[in-house]
Amino acid sequence: AAFSFKLRGAYNMMAKLSQEQLNNGVICSSAGNHAQGVALSAQRLGCHAVIVMPVTTPENKWRSVEKLGATVVLKGDSYDEAQSYAKLLCEEEGLTFIPPFDHPDIIAGQGTVGMEIVRQLQGPLHAIFVPVGGGGLIAGIAAYVKRVCPEVKIIGVEPSDANAMALSLFHGQRVMLEHIGGFADGVAVKVVGKETFPLCQDFVDGIVLVSQDAICASIKDMFEENRNILEPSGALALAGAEAYCKYYGLKGETVVAISSGANMNFDTLRLVTELPDVGRKPEAVLPTFSPKEQGSFKEFAELVSRMNITEFKHIYDSHGKEALVLHRT
Ligand SMILES: *Cc1c(COP(=O)(O)O)cnc(C)c1O
Repeated sequence: AAFSFKLRGAYNMMAKLSQEQLNNGVICSSAGNHAQGVALSAQRLGCHAVIVMPVTTPENKWRSVEKLGATVVLKGDSYDEAQSYAKLLCEEEGLTFIPPFDHPDIIAGQGTVGMEIVRQLQGPLHAIFVPVGGGGLIAGIAAYVKRVCPEVKIIGVEPSDANAMALSLFHGQRVMLEHIGGFADGVAVKVVGKETFPLCQDFVDGIVLVSQDAICASIKDMFEENRNILEPSGALALAGAEAYCKYYGLKGETVVAISSGANMNFDTLRLVTELPDVGRKPEAVLPTFSPKEQGSFKEFAELVSRMNITEFKHIYDSHGKEALVLHRT
């Protein structure tokens, strides 16, 4: 399995290629889920796939793509460099480029998620929350759902440090972000698509921005309720739905949040398990200097007695008279 919806768009586009194009093979650049979607589609369609990934891609990620039968080329320090190289190779070798979001066939493939939601509906639906990267998933879902159920709101969700769609909708044109947060790597996109943006302008009702802590809290909720582990981008919509329902005081309405992916990097899990409490309770890290004397921690604990201390880290300085102590309260 590919553990995300990306297979839908990639397969839809690739299934429409001519036999000659399939014989020549396909190429894409991706550091993650799109690579798996293209590799799996190529395997099913019996065509050759070249996947260009940045040299910084963790080994487990590129190995899993290689296992699906694709040829992995590690090139460039960033996604942008990998993409430029993929486009170059595609011209030189006559391969067909499969973009991650910005193509009508990709958008339509991702839109099948909307079709499935509408088919499973058993009563009125207030809103569908959709994670947004380049906008392929939300454009496809919105275009379909607004045609058949125009009363259902389509709300995008972005991390507050990767908010290209929110800014672009606000300014009425595609805005290029200079820096983006990479925690939710599936949606870390600097500029939304040429094809996806006008569809979002027409059909998307709004965008909710959420913090990294809120995403971690939603990963935890999903784990506790269903024993499923979502990757950060996969839990984004859930975090957005929760924030939205709380903000508008919604009660008794039905909403859908799309859990879009489960390709959790195992090393990221540790960070995720530490942050959800920050997302829910006021928790803070307090760096302080404590004298190296007996009873100084007790004194500190008494000073902050209204708060619980959840973690205590002692960094011992052998030269100075004091020790730096981190109290998490
Ligand atoms: C790609 C991806 C998204 C965002 O999809 P776009 O079509 O780029 O907006 C969301 N979640 C996951 C898990 C993804 O892999």
